Amino acid sequence: MPKYIFVTGGVVSSVGKGITTAALGRILKSRHVSVSVQKLDPYLNVDPGTMSPYQHGEVFVTSDGAETDLDLGHYERFIDEDLTKASSLTMGQVYNAVIQKERRGDFLGGTIQAVPHLTSEIKQRVRSIGRITGAQAVIIEVGGTVGDIEGQVFLEAIRQMRREEAPEDTLAIHVTYLPYIRATGEIKTKPTQHSVQELRRMGIQPDVILCRTDDDPVTAETRDKIALFCDVERRAVVAVPTVRSIYEVPALLEDAGLGDYVVGRMQIQAGGRDLSDWRRLVDRMMHPTSRVKVAVVGKYVELRDAYLSVKEALIHAGAAFDTEIEIVWVHSESVDTGNVAAQLHGVDAIIVPGGFGERGIEGKVAAAQHAREKQIPYLGLCLGMQVMVVESARAALGTDAVNSTEFDPETPNPVISLLSEQQGIDEKGGTMRLGAYVCRLTPGSKAGEAYGLDEVRERHRHRYEFNNAYRERLESFGLVATGSSPDGSLVEICEIRDHPFMVGTQFHPEFRSRPDRPHPLFKELVRVARSRAAGSERQEAVGQPVVASN
Ligand code: GLN
Repeated sequence: MPKYIFVTGGVVSSVGKGITTAALGRILKSRHVSVSVQKLDPYLNVDPGTMSPYQHGEVFVTSDGAETDLDLGHYERFIDEDLTKASSLTMGQVYNAVIQKERRGDFLGGTIQAVPHLTSEIKQRVRSIGRITGAQAVIIEVGGTVGDIEGQVFLEAIRQMRREEAPEDTLAIHVTYLPYIRATGEIKTKPTQHSVQELRRMGIQPDVILCRTDDDPVTAETRDKIALFCDVERRAVVAVPTVRSIYEVPALLEDAGLGDYVVGRMQIQAGGRDLSDWRRLVDRMMHPTSRVKVAVVGKYVELRDAYLSVKEALIHAGAAFDTEIEIVWVHSESVDTGNVAAQLHGVDAIIVPGGFGERGIEGKVAAAQHAREKQIPYLGLCLGMQVMVVESARAALGTDAVNSTEFDPETPNPVISLLSEQQGIDEKGGTMRLGAYVCRLTPGSKAGEAYGLDEVRERHRHRYEFNNAYRERLESFGLVATGSSPDGSLVEICEIRDHPFMVGTQFHPEFRSRPDRPHPLFKELVRVARSRAAGSERQEAVGQPVVASN
């Protein structure tokens, strides 16, 4: 029987509940406890796939093709398990399932209500993830903040589960925030007390309180006070200060005794704990010996969460070379052929990430052209591959009348066009080409060498594809397809032949990168960027004429 650990949030949103959940997963795994994670999102969208990145940040794609909350990315990166669609449950899915059952006649004669129908559906989904994965511990994070109207049905389901399971089989962790009042120089516990009262009003008494702070000291008195007012053990009140890197959080929780507490309180069969590899990795991340500058040219750069997995994949690849990655966020709408050299001045590599819609597209094409002509390492992710193809095709065909039909349906040269399986699909939700597909690599190509494999499985989220009618002309120009679907019909990777590293992928490699296993393509990008950076430093040292002042 799996153990269920429920994580709720209080006081404010964005306190890092997802990272805390992921970090707890890591410390349990470091004790050889098998772990799975599930996110319960209170909104009524069936999944976040139809939401704007401005609303929701990145959409994370699992290998089985679910479009999920970005917290699933944190879970995968920290616990190093491939999750499935069962790990992402929204209130929209819960309603959808219950209403479908009602229409089918499953509840014939009954009045369908939040309790027990929605709550039963939720409990069944939570329990099924334990069954599907066989994990010893399932950590369930509830999105939003306690007190939100939307989250109440989830909390009621949790309350019921806590009664139905044995006391040692469930644990409720509440993540709160302790504000610091500068005028009086003290940290305040009142919002935490209120938040716990709200949780209790829903029938849930927390067992553990994780107190996020902005690095302000949480004294023994503060912890005593929280323990007393919130009725939890003193050692179950854990301070979680803001740290420089999210990857520091597992060790922080471990050192505060959270792992011992959880395993002891829940009577989990655990092995010896060993977080040493993780600590070494984080230490490497924190003490880089070199640095490269990577420009990310996208249209949602105001909201860094929109490119979360790209940013993390770069950090992982940097750590492999003890290199710090300085990301230069460049707004694609601000880039044009006239200013691209200035905007991308001094960068050692360029990434054009995924995206949808026409806005900012010409800026991305300009960035691809700059990378190709100036031999700057480039990695194009999904849309980033498509703009690289458009750019090369404009050069190859000698005309600007080249585009993706996503941006110009009437273009005379549709080098990127709708996937045949997409023709006639009007519904937007969950209808893209989604999830992991096999890609065959061309031996000896840049991508093939980077992977060191003949075949890989990578995750997709797109509707458009490389138009094979242009393949020969583009290959003779120097843009070669070096990865394709096993039947050869879909181009999955393109690269520029005479270039240090200019590779575009129709898939999203960023979703598979892990801190201790950086993605081969990101790793190769950083490797080539580093030698370029070292080369230009050398050039500066020897080649710069000393200008005498007169
Ligand atoms: N908009 C493009 C498509 O649908 C690219 C999608 C993406 O970058 N994820 O094909």
